[in-house]
Amino acid sequence: MSNRLHRTINDMRLKRLKRILKRIQRYERPFEQLSDEALQQKTALFRQQLLDKKTTLDALLPEAYALVREASRRVLGMFPKEVQVLGAIVLHEGNIAEMQTGEGKTLTATMPLYLNALTGKGAYLITTNDYLAKRDYLEMKPLFEWLGLTIGLGFVDIPDYEYQRGEKRYIYQHDIIYTTGGRLGFDYLIDNLADSAEGKFLPKLNYGIIDEVDSIILDSAQTPLVISGAPRVQSNLFHVVTTFVQTLEENHHFKMKQTKKEIWLTQRGIEAANAYFGVPNIYDAPYFDLVRNINLCLRAKYLFENNTDYFVYKGEVVLIDRITGRMMPGTKLQSGLHQAIEAKEDVQLSMDMSVMATITFQNLFKQFNEFSGMSGTSHLGEKEFLDLYTKIVVEIPTDRPIQRIDYPDRVFKNVEDKNVAIIERIQTLYAEQRPVLLITRTAEMAEYFSAALFELDIPNNLLIAQNVAKEAQMIAEAGQIGAVTVATSMAGRGTDIKLAPGVPELGGLAVIISEHMENSRIDRQLRGRSGRQGDPGTSQIYISLEDYLVRRWGDLKALKMERLEQYDSATLQQSKLFQSRVRKTVQRAQRLSEEQGVKTREIANEHEKSISIQRELVYQERNRVLQFKNLDDVHLEKLALEVFEEVFDHTHFTASEWVNYIYRNLSFQFKDRLENIDLRDRKVVTEYLVSLFKQQLAYQKQHLDDYFYTHFVQRAILKAIDSNWIKQVDHLQKLKNSVNTRQNGKRNPIFEYHRVALESFDNMTDAIKRDIVKYLCQSITHTDENDDLVVHFPN
Ligand code: ADP
Repeated sequence: MSNRLHRTINDMRLKRLKRILKRIQRYERPFEQLSDEALQQKTALFRQQLLDKKTTLDALLPEAYALVREASRRVLGMFPKEVQVLGAIVLHEGNIAEMQTGEGKTLTATMPLYLNALTGKGAYLITTNDYLAKRDYLEMKPLFEWLGLTIGLGFVDIPDYEYQRGEKRYIYQHDIIYTTGGRLGFDYLIDNLADSAEGKFLPKLNYGIIDEVDSIILDSAQTPLVISGAPRVQSNLFHVVTTFVQTLEENHHFKMKQTKKEIWLTQRGIEAANAYFGVPNIYDAPYFDLVRNINLCLRAKYLFENNTDYFVYKGEVVLIDRITGRMMPGTKLQSGLHQAIEAKEDVQLSMDMSVMATITFQNLFKQFNEFSGMSGTSHLGEKEFLDLYTKIVVEIPTDRPIQRIDYPDRVFKNVEDKNVAIIERIQTLYAEQRPVLLITRTAEMAEYFSAALFELDIPNNLLIAQNVAKEAQMIAEAGQIGAVTVATSMAGRGTDIKLAPGVPELGGLAVIISEHMENSRIDRQLRGRSGRQGDPGTSQIYISLEDYLVRRWGDLKALKMERLEQYDSATLQQSKLFQSRVRKTVQRAQRLSEEQGVKTREIANEHEKSISIQRELVYQERNRVLQFKNLDDVHLEKLALEVFEEVFDHTHFTASEWVNYIYRNLSFQFKDRLENIDLRDRKVVTEYLVSLFKQQLAYQKQHLDDYFYTHFVQRAILKAIDSNWIKQVDHLQKLKNSVNTRQNGKRNPIFEYHRVALESFDNMTDAIKRDIVKYLCQSITHTDENDDLVVHFPN
């Protein structure tokens, strides 16, 4: 879309919003005159009107927003500005509001939160980390309480806190909840593992606002939330295979895509593997695990870089979030990849845990009846928001015009020259006492600059993979006279750099970025650290041909490097042609990287589709079972008959095999030899089995009263669903990795994935039914001293 068209569309949208703003403003004067009590009474009034269906949220919006504005003025001493109100309308409408840093998104969100909480169905504000959630919660608490709504923090802010029974239910019953995507996501998964209706605590998700929406939805798309279960059987192949992989040569034994996302063995590589491991053909069925290991170790060696994707810390491989540069302790790559990297780095292999439950942020947010988002840089992800969620991005103008100057990139031939220039520039700025924020891509570079500056007697704050609370403090100090802050790109998401007195006169904060990031959205976020609320400021990115982005994505041939070799840096520095070529190369590299990002997310979404459909079905079924009051609608005999018919149709059991089957699935006490039964007659056999099944049920019933019997059946069904669903989730997770790796001319991998996923779902459904029969027949029940039902399930 052309820029002009883009502007026109946005202006049209704003025009409509401004008409609503006018209606809000009509309440402004009258509300100023009202007493506190008169204003406070309105909440109950609104609620009653909604309850009586006399009004709708849309109709209430103008008056409700006006009320929040007036309340905010009285309670917090801040009157939401017009642009904030415009953003607030977008948020109520379920779209995405792009608002620059410092424009006051926290206050903006209070209006739609208040309005949507009036229904009593819950309104959520979702941020990226605990610290921000808590900070915003504490800041806005007095406002909501003044208005007569309850507000809660979505978690207890104590490490490894153990929740008491009922505590989470209490948390989630607040009108308004401030939390993080991770906290909510895990609670969603845990809630769906509850073994009784009383154990459930999460209400149906009603309305949510996602702060930094692009970061949560787009950048974190690759790391789904995972609840781990039992350890998987560990492969002992990693070390040998790692040694083998070291003998391989690129292009000869294996090939890699330029994008470094895919890697595969060539025919020569396959032969080398056959010879090394002394097998006829590694792709033969018995060597499935070997091939999987080779793929994992190849990927570990060539697609994952130490210090970029992970680093080794106290003998452990710790992942790094590529975008923010933060460490992600406790997060592990799935399905053996983490172990392959550990083998590569020669540290102790950790346990590979099976996956019990998983969900991506995309699908978590789709659970909401309505959600909206805000961020400083959403419009660069506009197309994806529309495709994925049918949400539009509305760019809200800043309250005061942006004064920041974004200088064109400074171009260098190599990193050394560039670093020297950066340090010189900081020296100059420091001499002027202008605050500087230097942002690097990696922690290593940040450390390097910090040390180099100290050598020159320039004191500075170094901000890398630190705890977020300290981060906020350092960022808060970054606007002081003469302050120098060196940080990775994580710096100050959602925290504000305020300028100290005298700094605006010096030109405001100078942001220097030591290289382009993989995504222009991130570049923009970084520039936006300067120039908040109409402050003066500057930003500039320094680039060189040795930058990571160029190495990974760039096409250096197009630059005719050999010809460049004859010139020294100083000469090239003067050449306009050289400069524009390098800029183009970097831009192209960034575009490629962005496109790859979009593509990877598309694939992730495709994979997620199968899992998500299956999860919905399973969770629905679970909830239905949890709701059982009695067993009137549960046709256990029919279910058993289906199971027996299936067994009959797929086996040709002899009499002793049938006895064995009965012994393992129906009754331990079975004594008959089945001599009087025609084992070729389907009807006879299955009816006989059903009669045994009924006997067993009758036996169970003898021990339990109606209430406990219902409870027992419920537990048995849940147990069957859960144990099989957990296996299925783990299976799908592994399937993703095995279908992903390109193998000798397979069909469309996504299609193949969906096909296999569906097939395995059908198998799972059958397995659930088989287990229900077995659990009903072979469990042992009793009641404990508290008169609670205890069930021992068979293995
Ligand atoms: P953002 O998240 O958009 O970067 P914040 O919500 O952190 O911005 O707000 C930035 C600062 O502006 C905060 O200190 C906040 O208290 C202040 N602020 C926001 N709205 C107003 C307002 N209407 N009047 C006065 N100060 C405001």
